[in-house]
Amino acid sequence: MKIWLDGKLVEQEEAKTSVFDHGTLYGDGIFEGIRFYNKRVFRLEDHMDRLYNCAHYLLLDIPYTQEELSNAVCETVAASGLNDGYIRLVGTRGAGEPGGIIADKISLYDPDVYENGLALITSSVRRNRPDTVCPQVKSLNYLNNILAKMEAVRQGAAEALMLNDLGNVAECTGDNIFIVKDGTVFTPPVTDGCLDGITRRVVLEICRELQIPAQEKTMNRFTITCADECFLTGTAAECVPVTKLDGYQLGSGKIGPVTARILARFQELAQTTGTSC
Ligand code: PMP
Repeated sequence: MKIWLDGKLVEQEEAKTSVFDHGTLYGDGIFEGIRFYNKRVFRLEDHMDRLYNCAHYLLLDIPYTQEELSNAVCETVAASGLNDGYIRLVGTRGAGEPGGIIADKISLYDPDVYENGLALITSSVRRNRPDTVCPQVKSLNYLNNILAKMEAVRQGAAEALMLNDLGNVAECTGDNIFIVKDGTVFTPPVTDGCLDGITRRVVLEICRELQIPAQEKTMNRFTITCADECFLTGTAAECVPVTKLDGYQLGSGKIGPVTARILARFQELAQTTGTSC
């Protein structure tokens, strides 16, 4: 596999960083997870905008223009020889190693959960407060999320719901959360402590297109347990239905009709749009 590192494609064995790298020492860096379908990169510009905004917030200097880095993503996808896959773009404050791009295959959840839904638990680990490392920053500081995910796995669940410091719903460890109640789609606002997910944006666009009412709303655990339908969104996860929270059955306990419509349209967009490489 070829990895793009500091301006050129190198073999996997050569793609190494220094032990002095600030990404390793302090988690001082940023990343993006991007999908490509049929050799087309899905929402490349949105991912690049988010990367550069996060770098700006962390006062991290990216020594490439957005266009140069977008071209590097395409170059890496072309070199991978894959039609479909996942790109991991990493940038650190470095010790001379500003960043790399990896394009590989991915499958996050068991295929069965896309048919039958996934079970969540509520994690005892809270999402960061916005006045610490702001959750809108896709930084290399993922320890809270990793602890929460391990808590879920220990309890036999695939993902964990993370609350913010007020006890309101923020998101899951690697995905945004949506519910459907009485025909309206709800998701927490980013100010409640979630990442401004690109897939979340796509779902809100789909709702407008399909004329499904959608709203950003503060929610707590009660709101989720009483939902008619629930699903998660993320680049790696795509759109995945949720049928259980902490052992409560959500709605009918099966993938709901609104979720199914949104999922189908998402798959269509993913397969037919994007930046060609
Ligand atoms: N929340 C968190 C914490 C994430 O890490 C991610 C990305 N894996 C998401 C939400 C989903 O964001 P996106 O749709 O941009 O991948």
